[in-house]
Order: sequence, then C-alpha cells, then structure tokens
Amino acid sequence: METFPPQIKPESWLVSAGRAAEPGAPLNVPLVPASNFLLGAGRSYARDDGTPTWEALEDIIGGLEAGKAVAFASGMAAIAAVFEQLPTGAVVALPDDCYQGVVGLAMAGAERGRWSVQRLPVDDTEGWIRACRVADLIWLESPSNPLLAVADLEAICAAPRKPGAVVAVDNTFATPLNQQPLDFGATVSIQSATKLIGGHSDLLAGVATTRDDALWHALRRSRELTGATPGVLEAFLAVRGARTLALRLQRAQENAMRLAERLARHPLVTCVRYPGLPSHPTHAVAKRLLKGFGTIISFDLRGGAEFADRVCRHVRLIRHATSLGGVESTMERRAAIPGQEHLPPSLLRLSVGIEDADDLWADLDGAIRAAATTDPAR
Ligand SMILES: *Cc1c(COP(=O)(O)O)cnc(C)c1O
Repeated sequence: METFPPQIKPESWLVSAGRAAEPGAPLNVPLVPASNFLLGAGRSYARDDGTPTWEALEDIIGGLEAGKAVAFASGMAAIAAVFEQLPTGAVVALPDDCYQGVVGLAMAGAERGRWSVQRLPVDDTEGWIRACRVADLIWLESPSNPLLAVADLEAICAAPRKPGAVVAVDNTFATPLNQQPLDFGATVSIQSATKLIGGHSDLLAGVATTRDDALWHALRRSRELTGATPGVLEAFLAVRGARTLALRLQRAQENAMRLAERLARHPLVTCVRYPGLPSHPTHAVAKRLLKGFGTIISFDLRGGAEFADRVCRHVRLIRHATSLGGVESTMERRAAIPGQEHLPPSLLRLSVGIEDADDLWADLDGAIRAAATTDPAR
C-alpha cells in the first residue's frame, strides 16, 4: 500500500497516487479485468484478494484520509458492510436528516429485530454525546442530505463511547478534501464514490476508510462473503474521476456559493439551505469544521410542490435528474421521492456542477420566472 507523503498536499496526492513506479509500466492505473490470478504470489481470486484497479482506488482514498480503505460495489454496499458488523440487539443512533437508503437499511434491520434505531437531530450535539454512551453504532452524515445540516463531529467523535462502539461518518457531501472524520476520531469514514469522487454520473462505487485494523479486516471479510465487489470499469472510472476531484470541487463550490447568495435574495424563494450562508442554522459549525461548504444547495419556493415541479421542467442547462456530485448541475424536488414526503413540499435539491455560474443563474432564475408566468391550470 502506498502511503501519503507528508510533504505533499491532498491535491497532488489525488493526481499522483496509485501509479506504478517501474520503468516501462503504464503511467495510468491499468484497467485489469480479472477474476483470478496465477497462484504463488499471494493474490488468487478477486473477490477475496482484490484487484490492482480496486487497490488504486483504495490507495487514493485511504491515503487522503490517512487510513486503510475498502472499495465496494456502491456507497450502500460500503454502508451495509458497516451495519453488518453489529451484534444482534445493538442500538443504532441515526440522524433525523439522512440519506434515504441508509434510513431504509436501518429500518429494515430494526423491523427484523436485528437492532433498534434512535433518531436524533443532526445539530443536537448534546444528544449525540449522550447517545455515544449507549449506542453501538453512531451513524453521522455531515453535511446531511438534503437539509445540509453540519454535525459537530469534533465534539461528538471526542465524546466517551460505549466500549466497542463504532462512530461512522457518511462523508459523501464533504469529500475527504473538505472534512477528515478520522482526524476527529471517527472509526470509519464512508464515501459514495458514485458522487463527487467519480464526478461524472457514470458509475456506482463506494469506499469505507478506517484506521482500525480489526475493522478493516472485518470490512474486507464482509466484501468477500457478501460479494459486494466494485466493478473493474467502475473502479477505473472512479480513479479517473479522483484525479480532478480537487479542481471540480473548488469550481463547483464557488458556483454553489454564488447561486446560494442569489437564491437568498430571490422574491419567489422562501428558504435557502447552504452551509456557507451565514443564515444557515449550522453555519458556525460548518465554518469551524469544513474546508469548503460543498456543492449542494436546497431551497424552498413560494407556491408549493406544483410550482417547484414546473421550475424543474423549465431548467435546461441544469438537468432535471436525481443524484449529485457530477460535473453537470442536476436538480429535483425531493419530497416527490418515496420515503421523502416529510420534507418541505417545494424543496428543490440542486447539485451544482462546474458550468459557468452566470449561465447557471440565468437558467435557474429564468426557469423560476417562466414557471411563475405559466398558468398553473394548463
Ligand atoms: C448516494 C449516497 C449514498 C449511497 O451511495 P450509492 O453509491 O448510491 O450506493 C450514501 N450516502 C449519501 C450521502 C449519498 O449521497
């Protein structure tokens, strides 16, 4: 495993990590489609032992978080592997605002009697600190989806824990460039590499990173036994995406800040949630803990769900699509998604891409104006 040299910056590591050093070797990480390997050198079967392409992705992300990473078939596969470690009857603390797949997984396990789930507001730091003493899995997601609440990871990760308890942080929205959960003391940090790491909406992959050797082995074993292995092309594309992560993130979060400020002044917008805005309820924590405020904005519109749907139909440059973290901006009304009906009906989640900020604003403002002038009865 290649280790991150202390004298270089994460931006340089993202570009250089995982490459071969031998003269004559390909400069880029090779795409190695292999289920099995010639015996005698330690690696025999991909599901058990990994492949050079998966390992490059693991080296890149693991190095960024100064831990050891395991790559999975998707973010959910990585998350499921963490949940799978829980003993029967465990207590799980889960944020009230949380990726719907994680809520679904936690609730399905609770229904089957595998564990019980306690939900807590993301910003209830005292509540989380209390939960650390009783829960076996403290699951945090920060910034959260889609309300962009930032948890005080520094305080929560430092709190005394029940012996053996795992603090897991879904770091997908921040990426390891904006936030390092393991440095705060989290046990494991999760990335859906489908999002910003891949960055082009063309793959599914996940990565779990830890400094706990026993947990790393357990996650490897879980991947081996459940078969939640990344595809070779997906791993190759995730490595390709990671090379430009720093540039894409920087550009997209600059765009996001500009759009959030303009949305906050828009007469037809009633609420803008972006951790970079001083009006955001967890702005102070975000400023203290995050190196950047991220690429996701959620906002509510005057005029309700039907109006918000019309805005989605009028955007052109911004694509009406789910998911996030791609070079292209995407937007959708989250309460339209099964299981998300508790959200404000007009809430639009905007994943800001790397297009020109003025072009994005013209598209968004134009769509809001067009929706406002369309006869709702038609
Ligand atoms: C997308 C996402 C996941 C799940 O990742 P997949 O790669 O789709 O399985 C988990 N957490 C967050 C915050 C996400 O945005």
